[in-house]
Amino acid sequence: MSEIEHLLREDLRGQTAYGAPQLDVPVQLNTNENAYPIPEDVAAVVAEFIGRELRGLNRYPDRDALALRGDLAAYLGHGLTADNVWAANGSNEILQQLLQAFGGPGRAVLGFMPSYSMHPLLARGTGTAFVDAGREADYTLTPGHVRWAIEAHDPDLVFLVSPNNPTGTALDAAVVEAAYEAARGIVVIDEAYAEFARDRASTALGLLEGRKRLVVTRTMSKAFAFAGARVGYLAADPELVEKLLLVRLPYHLSSITQAAARGALACATRLQSEVDELKHQRDRIVKNLRAKGLPVADSDANFVLVGGLRDAAAVWRAVLDEGVLIRDVGLPGRLRITAGNEEETASLLAAFDTVLERRPELFDSASEQRSASEQQQEQNQ
Ligand SMILES: *Cc1c(COP(=O)(O)O)cnc(C)c1O
Repeated sequence: MSEIEHLLREDLRGQTAYGAPQLDVPVQLNTNENAYPIPEDVAAVVAEFIGRELRGLNRYPDRDALALRGDLAAYLGHGLTADNVWAANGSNEILQQLLQAFGGPGRAVLGFMPSYSMHPLLARGTGTAFVDAGREADYTLTPGHVRWAIEAHDPDLVFLVSPNNPTGTALDAAVVEAAYEAARGIVVIDEAYAEFARDRASTALGLLEGRKRLVVTRTMSKAFAFAGARVGYLAADPELVEKLLLVRLPYHLSSITQAAARGALACATRLQSEVDELKHQRDRIVKNLRAKGLPVADSDANFVLVGGLRDAAAVWRAVLDEGVLIRDVGLPGRLRITAGNEEETASLLAAFDTVLERRPELFDSASEQRSASEQQQEQNQ
């Protein structure tokens, strides 16, 4: 063990840092980013908002980010106001602050993997035990399983993801309600992809009223195409929000970040049209991969999880050889694909066609490519 490794916290020794493998290929559909750059007119608005802050950068920012929280509350609706909302540098920081305030050494957070891979890492970083209660064989989550797991483990926090990453499907309100009723602790619904849901009403925001331990986290990284700006937020009871001030760094959210976020929020309607286009491309991927005989779960996110792969790692490699980078999330027989723009989707589907044709042995026999006429029939339906 090196001298530095020896000085490191025992629970961090031998661990590797998070990072999606980045490769320089023409079509990158591996990190669930928004495929569209910020449109020119939106960029102009954001620049104007930032510009107004520049001369005042000698001062610390509004540490409570009140104006931004007001804008976020207005965007969310559901009767929420600034005191229901908290913002930070990405929803990852929001989740970290929740763990710092309500988790920590001697406490536990319950999650249901496969789900967002950062949740266990954020738990580890804050010294919170992460307990994985798993899912059904098809990766769905039932109220019964959630209730059983919470009663069995009695966690201080529960993390649910809806729509779930990497499976793509939103949770029924019944699952959230069951979790809240069974838990004595904080119940967090990570809604990073809420704007992409087939049913926009599937959010848990409507359940916040009267549920003081319920938290909904959101991000501007996906729907607002703002991953580089680092803006995440939550909606919850004002008393819970106030407790997060105990653990936030002073002035954690820069004036520039706050201004940029407010500029993008002023263009929310404009940016939603790109979300609608991505949903269209996502549904196109689902429909076309199904027509090729590959099982794909319904998706409420900006990505899909494709199954029916006998050798997922080899399919990942073969698709990469066609110039398209997708994500091997370590689930047997499955790969995750982020929805891209129209041309990127065309490249992806062409890559799958090529691999299905040249390497049928990489796929489950039930999902081997069907005859062209069969595929055509399905597409015409
Ligand atoms: C992408 C993603 C986030 C976003 O994190 P940010 O820190 O806001 O960029 C959060 N949760 C899930 C499940 C995600 O997939």
